[in-house]
Amino acid sequence: MSEVFNVTLLGTGCPAVSTTRYGAATLVQAGEQNILIDVGSGVTQRLVAAGLNGADIDAVLITHMHSDHLIDFYQFIISSWHQSRTKPQKVYGPKGIKKFIKETMAVWDDERNLRIEFEQRTSTTALKIEVVEFDSQAPIIQTEHLTVKPIQVMHEPVDPAYGFSFEAAGKKVILSGDTRYCDNLIEQSKGADLLIHEVFVHGCMEVTGTRSAQGLKAVESYHTLSDEVGKIATKANVKALALTHIVPPDADRAQLIAQAKADFAGPVIVGEDLMRFDLVNRQVHHGETAFSF
Ligand SMILES: [Zn+2]
Ligand SMILES: [Zn+2]
Repeated sequence: MSEVFNVTLLGTGCPAVSTTRYGAATLVQAGEQNILIDVGSGVTQRLVAAGLNGADIDAVLITHMHSDHLIDFYQFIISSWHQSRTKPQKVYGPKGIKKFIKETMAVWDDERNLRIEFEQRTSTTALKIEVVEFDSQAPIIQTEHLTVKPIQVMHEPVDPAYGFSFEAAGKKVILSGDTRYCDNLIEQSKGADLLIHEVFVHGCMEVTGTRSAQGLKAVESYHTLSDEVGKIATKANVKALALTHIVPPDADRAQLIAQAKADFAGPVIVGEDLMRFDLVNRQVHHGETAFSF
């Protein structure tokens, strides 16, 4: 078997609505497993655009309990059923994920039961969810070909919040999740082949009728600023840096790259929805374009 270790950015946006950057979601394909990280707005459409669907997903990982990472959870479960999934869905998430799933499923109990009875499909197993709530950095998935570990990050007042580390094919990829500058993330990212980090452009939001200066300062304070992310990549000594969860979604790409490159000598890639990183061949694919990293 030739080794595969691909990471596809399904959604590189944030809560702000964008037609080009959908809600937070990432697909990791390694060790014969398809793992979906976060289920932000539009994840099911992006998954199909990436050539897969809900029936193909072996595990869902949730970084933290913010709605922009969770809002399409039910849509994902139901569409997987429509896509002929016949096995339960495994979900790993931090404290709060069990309650969230129980209550989300309960909201739709009547509708779902009516549909199950009326449509008389041969399997309803796709609607079963096996939830694992983790509370440490111990591996949550460990097979011969793939190790997945949570990384505790800093996104207070949302606490806990996690990123994830994926090791396969002799390579290591880190996904930051939502975090401010975080020493633990740097520590856990040491020597990674690719760090996929969130980014927030300093001063990008303006005081308006519904936004106060104090509120904007608070929002900035639990994300990583565009002039910090290159320093993080350098401290962690990673081989390449990709940016995701881009706030604002229409941030100037050249400016993001220039800011990160001021502190980091390696390749800096501004993530785009459906951009795929092939770790084995060190290639980035996006639409018709491909380049090495
Ligand atoms: Zn977020
Ligand atoms: Zn968040």
